[in-house]
Amino acid sequence: MLTDLDLLELSEFRRELHQYPELSGYELETSKKILTALKEMGPSQIIDKMGGYGLAAIFDSQKKGPTILFRAELDALPIQEKNNLPWASKLPGVSHTCGHDGHMTMLLALGRVISRNPIKCGKVVLMFQPSEENGQGARAVVSDARYKQIKPDLAFAIHIEPGRPFGYVSTRPGLINCASLGLKITLNGKTAHAADPSDGISPSLAVAEFIQKIAKFNHGDELNNNFKLTTITHVQIGEQSFGISPGDASIFVTLRTSNDDSLSQLDKDVRELVSNISTKFELTFDFEIFDHFAASINDKEAHDIAVDAMKALNINYGSIGVPMRASEDFGIFGMQSRAAMLCLGPGEDYAALHNPDYDFNDDLIPIGTGIFERITRDLLGTY
Ligand SMILES: [Zn+2]
Ligand SMILES: [Zn+2]
Repeated sequence: MLTDLDLLELSEFRRELHQYPELSGYELETSKKILTALKEMGPSQIIDKMGGYGLAAIFDSQKKGPTILFRAELDALPIQEKNNLPWASKLPGVSHTCGHDGHMTMLLALGRVISRNPIKCGKVVLMFQPSEENGQGARAVVSDARYKQIKPDLAFAIHIEPGRPFGYVSTRPGLINCASLGLKITLNGKTAHAADPSDGISPSLAVAEFIQKIAKFNHGDELNNNFKLTTITHVQIGEQSFGISPGDASIFVTLRTSNDDSLSQLDKDVRELVSNISTKFELTFDFEIFDHFAASINDKEAHDIAVDAMKALNINYGSIGVPMRASEDFGIFGMQSRAAMLCLGPGEDYAALHNPDYDFNDDLIPIGTGIFERITRDLLGTY
C-alpha cells in the first residue's frame, strides 16, 4: 500500500524526471536516478546497462514460483514542450510527452511496496528499458545475454492513453498495438540545368507515380486481420533551387499492419513498386529501415490475470480504443513470454501523447501501481 508520503515523494520524483528528459539511447542521467532509487529498495539483484542504459531490478523470494516482469521506458521525445508547468522540461527541444516519466514512477512505486511486503514465491523484475520511441530498446534488452537470467513467465506494462476517462483501462486479448516500420526510399537520377531538364534524369514523375500507387496497398482497419496502412511522412526532391532540375529524391513512408507477417509482405510489395517505377524512369534506388516495431499481442492468459486484478480493484475497464494503430516496443517482450499491455486513461481533457502540452497525471500513480501490485500478490502471494 502506498502512503500519502509515498505519493508525495513519488510525484516529486516524477516531476524531477520530467524536467530532465533524455532522448532514446541517451538516457544516462535518467538511468542513474532510477538506479539510486532502486538501490534504496534493496532488490536481490540489479542488472544495469542492458541494451544501452536499461536496468532490471530483481526481487527474488528464493522460493519456486513464476517470474513476473513489469516494464517501463526511460526515453523522452525530440519535442519542444509548450506549457507553463513549474516542472516543465529544462532541456530545449526534448520532453517527456509520452508519459514515460510516469511509467517509471509507477514501477518504482511497485518496488517500494514489494520491498516492504516481500513476495512469498517466485520473482518480480522491474524492467526499465531504453529507446522505446525508436523501436530499438526492447530488442536490445532481450538480446543482452543477461536477459536469460530473467526469463520472465509473464510480462505486463501500462501505457497512459489520453482520450479515455480517468482511471479507465483499455485492453483486449490479441492485437493491442499494430506492427510498423519506417522505410526511407532514395531515388537517384542525374541533375541538369533547369533550362534543359531532358539532359538529366529527374525523379519527380517517379515520386508522383509512387505516391499515387502506394495508396492502393491500404486496406481495412485495425480490427481487420489484414489491415494495411501506408503513410507518406516526408518527401524531398532535389535542392531548394530554381536553376537545377533535380537528380535525386527521398521518400519517407511508414508501413503499418495488424501482424508481423503482413508487415514483411507489405514491405516487399512497396519495394517491388519502387523497383518497377525506378526501372520505368531509369532511376537507381536504395532502401533503409527505421523504427521497426513488432505487433504487440496480448496473451489471453496474461490478459485474464490483469482483468482479475482490475475486477478485484473495481477498476473500470473495456476495449474502447484498442487495438491501437500506434506501435509499441513491448511486443518484443511478448515474443519471449506471455504478456499483456494495459492502456490507462488520464481523463478526457488531457492532451494526446506526443503533443507539446502533454503531461502525465500524477493521480494515476496509485492506480497503475495498484494493478501491478494486485497482479503480483495474486500470483506470488499474499494478502
Ligand atoms: Zn511515444
Ligand atoms: Zn510511449
